[in-house]
Amino acid sequence: MTASRWQQRIQRAEALAARHAFAAEILAFYVKLARFQESLYQRLERAAENKVSLPGLPELPELLSSFGPYLSLVAEQGPERVAAVARDLRNGGKNSWQHWLNDCWSAVGRPPTQPQEFLSLAFLQPYAEFVRSRVPLQLDGYTHSQCPFCSRKPGLGVLRQQGDGGRRSLMCAFCLAEWDFRRLLCPGCGEEDHKKLPVYTAEEFSYIRVECCDSCHTYIKTVDLSKHGLADPLVDEIAAVPLDLWAQEHGYTKLHLNLLGM
Ligand SMILES: [Zn+2]
Ligand SMILES: [Zn+2]
Repeated sequence: MTASRWQQRIQRAEALAARHAFAAEILAFYVKLARFQESLYQRLERAAENKVSLPGLPELPELLSSFGPYLSLVAEQGPERVAAVARDLRNGGKNSWQHWLNDCWSAVGRPPTQPQEFLSLAFLQPYAEFVRSRVPLQLDGYTHSQCPFCSRKPGLGVLRQQGDGGRRSLMCAFCLAEWDFRRLLCPGCGEEDHKKLPVYTAEEFSYIRVECCDSCHTYIKTVDLSKHGLADPLVDEIAAVPLDLWAQEHGYTKLHLNLLGM
């Protein structure tokens, strides 16, 4: 069950990479990340099963012992700019990692901006998904724009068919929680005047909406599953790089960058 979730993302990334040359490098890197994330998730599950009554997080030793191999993987196989960041973090040494990972985990009020933050959040992502899946989320009546589990801003939106229209939800790019959110409402500032909430699409990704706000000048990309049922919102959002370039050229800032820092 768990394994297939990552395998589905990997297969989707490979299919998109074959179709979109401009995203091939970033998706190839994503596939390597996802393979690592899947194996980390499985180790975390095993660590949780075998836990003895240690103080603190039972999974922490597993996390710390996995960070070095992760940095080595990225240093050796990532795109050069990311590889250099991984080497720097690796050279920082083990003693600094626990503090650093804690900082990344708890920095929820300020979206990440630095390459080393994205790299570390991508490492922690399966752990966030692991912990979140073990906590019952009470989503009835939840109307906020930030993630109900980790309080981060949403990284993307998802549209699903409902009746004659579509139901929008927001998704956290870190712990992958998903929650309903009104369609005509800016998750950045609460603007609800539809004239100030333009939506753009491009032929190449006709099922991905760039949902902008002319009040706070932010945008998110929303994957419309009613138009493309095979899309994987997380992976398709990463692949649709030209839409980000377009939005940013037109003066919009992404509400929360994805874990590849885009
Ligand atoms: Zn979250
Ligand atoms: Zn806004």
